[in-house]
Amino acid sequence: MNTERVIVIGGGQAGFEAVTRLRANGFAGRVTLVSDECEAPYQRPPLSKAYLHEHDNDALALRPSSFYATNDIGLECGRAVTAIDRRRQLIELSDGATMAYDHLILATGARNRPLPTPGASTAGVHYLRTAAEASELVGALRSCTSLVVIGAGFIGLEVAAAARKKHIGVTVIEALDRPMARALSKPMSEYFANEHLRHGVDLRLNTSVSDILAIDGRASGVRTSDGEIVPADVVVVGIGVLPNSELADRAGLPTHNGIIVDRHLRTPDPHIWAIGDCAAFPLQDSDELVRLESVQNAVDQARCVAAQLTGVRKPYCEVPWFWSEQYESKLQMVGLMAASDTHVVRGSLAERSFSVFGFRSGQLVGAESVNMARDHMAARKMLGCAMPLTPEQAADPTYDLKAAVKEFSQREALARN
Ligand code: FAD
Repeated sequence: MNTERVIVIGGGQAGFEAVTRLRANGFAGRVTLVSDECEAPYQRPPLSKAYLHEHDNDALALRPSSFYATNDIGLECGRAVTAIDRRRQLIELSDGATMAYDHLILATGARNRPLPTPGASTAGVHYLRTAAEASELVGALRSCTSLVVIGAGFIGLEVAAAARKKHIGVTVIEALDRPMARALSKPMSEYFANEHLRHGVDLRLNTSVSDILAIDGRASGVRTSDGEIVPADVVVVGIGVLPNSELADRAGLPTHNGIIVDRHLRTPDPHIWAIGDCAAFPLQDSDELVRLESVQNAVDQARCVAAQLTGVRKPYCEVPWFWSEQYESKLQMVGLMAASDTHVVRGSLAERSFSVFGFRSGQLVGAESVNMARDHMAARKMLGCAMPLTPEQAADPTYDLKAAVKEFSQREALARN
């Protein structure tokens, strides 16, 4: 009989996947998932997309609530973990209870970065991370005629696109010189800037917000760094997130922009792992620590730790990918475009069906595709098997990426045998 106890802290995508995979891999000990949110684990990506139109809470759930009992997973919702006692291998909860673990997985995710501006907590200023926040935003948008979005990142721009679909006037204010600048190549940023302009968004780049203005205690607009007043019934702040690493920090585990883990996603304490948005890990063969915020990263890291706790020791080395949806454009990204120095466009921007391939010193490091799932899948495979691709091949529309990957994989398989 297996008497081992695994506790997972955080019932987001990573925590959910960890407990699910442990059971799928045949782990027969005790599995407990502790979440400070009241809802059973749910998906966050729809919160800035379909949910803003359909407001369908049932569609968010990752599994029906019966799933946890059926799979003998202890689900403790609405309970925050306040401390980790590493010496005694116990966690402490906000209600004073303690629980013992043999293995502890930290999947505490991230929280909204607060706007450091006067008036930021005025009624009518919204953030978007949780289902509760999304529900409040849906309510606020019902009677909204003018919206200001602070931050042209993925979430801010998805909200802007959803609001335009509801015919709400939208102004987006971004401190940098292009949208989604930290994640996207310049050509792709420019494409999305034009899409938002085409849909009637007033996009203010190189601009920040110095003040939230209010009338009768409710947000009425913002003052920009140029001194201009932009009226708004609703303000949405999307200026990024902060990792929830304080619990680890207080337990004496190393943190720096996340909970620091090794290639196996383990902290220096052999009983404690960290996964998902809260984990800072060495990406592939580099020693540089990265922290990624995506469903793929949360899911694959959870699978990697669950595999190790069920006997398959392996380092984490998945290729990162991500998606976003704005208007008619489905964006899929793979690799790390921030590392690229050369960009090659393949396909047609005018037809909204194209990819940008990113190279560093002539080597493929990432690709961004709009309504081009074929290119995205091919690039994922290429990066996964380190297949060489030249910028000329990427730019050549007659060069069949899918066939090239297949041929390369077959050659590699033959060479191995
Ligand atoms: P989280 O989802 O943050 O979950 C962590 C959980 O732990 C939370 O419930 C938190 O409350 C809980 N917790 C924290 N501390 C404690 C504690 N002490 N005790 C108990 N519980 C605790 N990614 C994509 O790839 N594509 C997208 O299109 C996309 N869209 C997104 C849209 C929105 C609106 C948001 C918010 C995110 C989006 N993401 C998207 C990002 C993706 O959803 C996240 O990267 C992913 O959910 C991270 O999962 P996680 O489990 O690591 O963290």
